[in-house]
Amino acid sequence: MGTTVLEEKYPFLLKYFKGGIESSTRSIAHCILFYGTDLDAQYELAMEIARLLNCSGDNSNSCTCLNCSWIRNNQHPAVLTISKVDNKDSNDDSKNVISIEQARMIKNKLLVTSEYHRVLIFCDRDKEGNICGLNETNFQEPTANALLKTFEEPPANTTFFFLTKDKEDMISTIISRAQSFYVPSKKEVINDYSIVQNALEGYLQINRNDVLDLYERINNFMKENDPMEILNQIQNYICALLKNSLNNSALKVKLIQDINAVEHAKQELQLGMKPQIIAETLAFALVLK
Ligand SMILES: [Zn+2]
Repeated sequence: MGTTVLEEKYPFLLKYFKGGIESSTRSIAHCILFYGTDLDAQYELAMEIARLLNCSGDNSNSCTCLNCSWIRNNQHPAVLTISKVDNKDSNDDSKNVISIEQARMIKNKLLVTSEYHRVLIFCDRDKEGNICGLNETNFQEPTANALLKTFEEPPANTTFFFLTKDKEDMISTIISRAQSFYVPSKKEVINDYSIVQNALEGYLQINRNDVLDLYERINNFMKENDPMEILNQIQNYICALLKNSLNNSALKVKLIQDINAVEHAKQELQLGMKPQIIAETLAFALVLK
């Protein structure tokens, strides 16, 4: 389930990486820096890319190959989280940093060839174990320097991720060697439908003669706002209805059809189709089906 949501949240980032991974040259950077306030999303994205790099099945969201299953359970032998608490030797008494000792361990591990695509995710964790961002305190210059050569010329099939809130928090030697991507936070807005709520209220009872009214409302919203945001909100609104209709199976079927219709509209928008045509098709799909 996580991955479908991820694809909706970050269609362009995922499309970008998928394109690179599926190209004949496997052209994706060795060092990738994610920044932004939503560290969970960054971690999820890194894991999903690790999955795409290692999948031995059809690369689909529902693939059940061994690599995909391992990664979903965070048990893949070659996909490692590196933080002040993860993948640290029990003899290592440093508490608050990714240590030089860990850097050595990583270098030794990478000397051995692997049948997998190795993915190392550098991040931090708070006391509760939540993923947090790297900064100059938990990922210090000496550790980074110990790994600099490795970051620059990693062995084949190896990718490093660095997760941080703010690029300013990262040591410059990493910034200059990594390809950076801003990962916007979707945490607060994910279930928002405030713009479309009034317009959609009662849409299930709309008479087919009024379908053009609904079309005009959707079309105007899409003109006045980011059209993808409007489609996301319509989808959120219908999802909220669905959550409240779990005992009504006929209604459930109708609402799931509607959610799929909006999904289809979102795909058309990504393909560059005119918002006006998308709004019209969507209004008819919502009312007449
Ligand atoms: Zn797979």
